[in-house]
Amino acid sequence: MAEDTIFGKIINGDIPAEKLFEDEHCICIKDISPKAPTHVLIIPKRPIPKLADATEADQALLGHLMLKVGDIARMLGIDDAFRLIVNNGEGGGQTVFHLHMHLLGNKEFDESQL
Ligand code: 5GP
Repeated sequence: MAEDTIFGKIINGDIPAEKLFEDEHCICIKDISPKAPTHVLIIPKRPIPKLADATEADQALLGHLMLKVGDIARMLGIDDAFRLIVNNGEGGGQTVFHLHMHLLGNKEFDESQL
């Protein structure tokens, strides 16, 4: 699948990444610039630019990704204490326009940070 975002290139194997998990629908990689001691990205292989662009056709994929969050959090030992973030659009802080979820853990979180 040709795609010119950095995540498309990682999915295609054109550039390297520290991959923790992969299945037919998604990959999980370590963030190159971690904002927490544990910071991974869960990325669908299908190149949806941002969450607001998802359609009914993506329903099963989005459900799959959400279920993988729990599996990956368990694998990383953070399933009781993580934060899941999706930045949507430039105004939402998104910099790579291939949908991805940030899974952050091993850090103190409190509701005032939201
Ligand atoms: P966004 O701001 O779009 O929500 O998040 C993009 C994330 O991708 C950032 O946290 C950034 O550190 C990460 N990132 C950018 N380029 C690379 C890369 O080449 N490899 C990896 N593993 N992460 C990257």
